[in-house]
Amino acid sequence: MSDLILERLLTWIDAAPSPYHAANNAANDLSKAGFERFSPVDAWGESDRIVVSWGGVVVAAAFSPEIDPDQLRFRLVGAHTDSPNLRIKPTPDLSNVGYQQLGVEVYGGALVNSWLDRDLGISGRVVVGDNASYETHLLKVDRPLLRVAQLAIHLDRDVNDGLKLDRQSHLVPIWGLGDTEEGAFRSFLAAELGVNDLDVLSWDIMCHDLTPSSSLGRNQEFYAAPRIDNLASCHAALEALMNVETVESNTISAVVLFDHEEIGSESSTGARGPMLSHALERLADTRAVSREQFLRALSRSACVSADGAHAVHPNYVDRHEPEHQVALNGGPVIKLNANVRYATDAESSALFQSACRSAGVPFQQYAHRSNLACGSTIGPITAAQLGVMVVDVGSPQLSMHSAREMAGASDPAYLTAALSTFLSDS
Ligand code: ZN
Repeated sequence: MSDLILERLLTWIDAAPSPYHAANNAANDLSKAGFERFSPVDAWGESDRIVVSWGGVVVAAAFSPEIDPDQLRFRLVGAHTDSPNLRIKPTPDLSNVGYQQLGVEVYGGALVNSWLDRDLGISGRVVVGDNASYETHLLKVDRPLLRVAQLAIHLDRDVNDGLKLDRQSHLVPIWGLGDTEEGAFRSFLAAELGVNDLDVLSWDIMCHDLTPSSSLGRNQEFYAAPRIDNLASCHAALEALMNVETVESNTISAVVLFDHEEIGSESSTGARGPMLSHALERLADTRAVSREQFLRALSRSACVSADGAHAVHPNYVDRHEPEHQVALNGGPVIKLNANVRYATDAESSALFQSACRSAGVPFQQYAHRSNLACGSTIGPITAAQLGVMVVDVGSPQLSMHSAREMAGASDPAYLTAALSTFLSDS
């Protein structure tokens, strides 16, 4: 069972190099599993299973067969579809000393060194059309196109004492020889999509490492993949929702996958906007729930914010809090921070612990070192937006924000089982 979940996760990650692919693939998977698919501009029907997706976002819900609006509550799992990477600029074509290169910008808190000397493909979305109308196409090119080549050690003898990379000049990928022509990247996109150059209006295109995700280790205890933060949580949340057979009475169990967590969540598709509260209100509305009943429902609700957690690193033990060392394959990590960089409190922690116990899954607790700045998640933002109890959890991993990360092979099944129990409200 756990091997099958890992196998599906690895395939899923490789199929989703951009948030747009992650969201679209999630919606396709859910609709194959019987969820009725809507767009945000549709009126959402009264079906017991619905999925709505746009851009890098997914909202999916499973309803109890009968809902008393006076007793309604939500069980929510939130995660994010975006990961740090290199994104192509709007006018990217560069010619430099006989090379053709593409201008890129760093998205999010990437470990930029991890993008060096990798064979890169591109993916994302392209808007095609004319003045009268346009449409958005997903694009994924999985053949080696680009490379950010490292400088040979002979030309920088001190490099191993501290690599410094200038984001403007040192991360520019090479993609050809000779002088580039104006509009070369636009023409490339047009040819890939089989449309005229002039019809390519704009794009959100990013680079991805082409090394396939795989198991790793002496006994395959680990797996290595790009975007484990946070596609591993997205995948577990989606599998959990598909596993839900019967939703506890008066409950709407929902998964929401946001975009733009890695840059602070401030966008129309990020957690800081009204997207989730609007979606929940619309879900409630399909069951004729009044505004007052909806607000009461929020105060009965709970949310798991699922995101990567830091496993203890054997080469950097001093970076970890000694009493909160988290193990790979040790089960989901409940993350606490006194200054609410994580949203967990005693009550939400107890709720998630009980879901783990019912699922027969081990769990761990994480606190950051008191003398290091702590990262954050969509958890505190969601708690502040909705006024809902939130617990921050996640699977342990190493190399967070690298182009290729590493995690424990058993943890995807553990997280999936714990989230399944939480969403079933049992
Ligand atoms: Zn994350």
